[in-house]
Amino acid sequence: MVSKIQLDGIGMTSQRTRNRLVERLREQGVSNLSVLDAILNTPRHLFVDEALSHRAYEDTALPIGHNQTISQPYIVARMTELLLEVKPKKVLEVGTGSGYQTAILAQLVDQLYSVERIKPLLEKARQRCRLLKLDNVFFKHADGGMGWAEKGPFDAILSAAAPRLVPQELKEQLAVGGRLVIPVGDNREQHLITVDRTDHGFKETVHEAVRFVPLLGGTVN
Ligand code: SAH
Repeated sequence: MVSKIQLDGIGMTSQRTRNRLVERLREQGVSNLSVLDAILNTPRHLFVDEALSHRAYEDTALPIGHNQTISQPYIVARMTELLLEVKPKKVLEVGTGSGYQTAILAQLVDQLYSVERIKPLLEKARQRCRLLKLDNVFFKHADGGMGWAEKGPFDAILSAAAPRLVPQELKEQLAVGGRLVIPVGDNREQHLITVDRTDHGFKETVHEAVRFVPLLGGTVN
């Protein structure tokens, strides 16, 4: 079942700035009301260090340590919209990072599996999701480029890190009718790609240019 965040005491004070963020996303073309609602309900300031929390509702990526960033809200919204088009129930997220995208997805899908290669980031994200009582999320410290085969197939997969080529393992863990949303490219040029699995095979669609951290192999403790 989808999770619902209760904001009493946690995020009421930031409700106004979140409203402004949602207005901005709407102006930029985000139109899915469930996505906008999830963003309105998610206290992004809890997903960054306190020293940066005053910038949490700017539409920008921010550092989260370990050379990684919390994704820009616009791109979180855009990728979530693309993912929801296939009405997924069971979803895999590659690259938990701060857990912000995780928290958004947990409010929109029944079961969410999230894989992160940097252990301290994963543990912090796990704590944040616990605090927000998002109990439909399952975490794993592993190389997410390999997917999470034991839990698949997935109705949708979202990657927050960019490989040079779409990993075959992720394609194979898609259910028929499922969709992978992933940035692909190098540090000079990347595009958002969707890969749809049909009865006959895979269909790739190239969307706008984006900028993500690279999908790296192996794990870090
Ligand atoms: N949506 C996240 C984005 C974090 S940045 C947020 O808003 O916080 C992308 C994350 O992908 C980083 O935390 C990075 O460590 C992770 N990552 C990169 N390669 C990975 C891999 N092979 N497996 C799992 N996670 C990976």
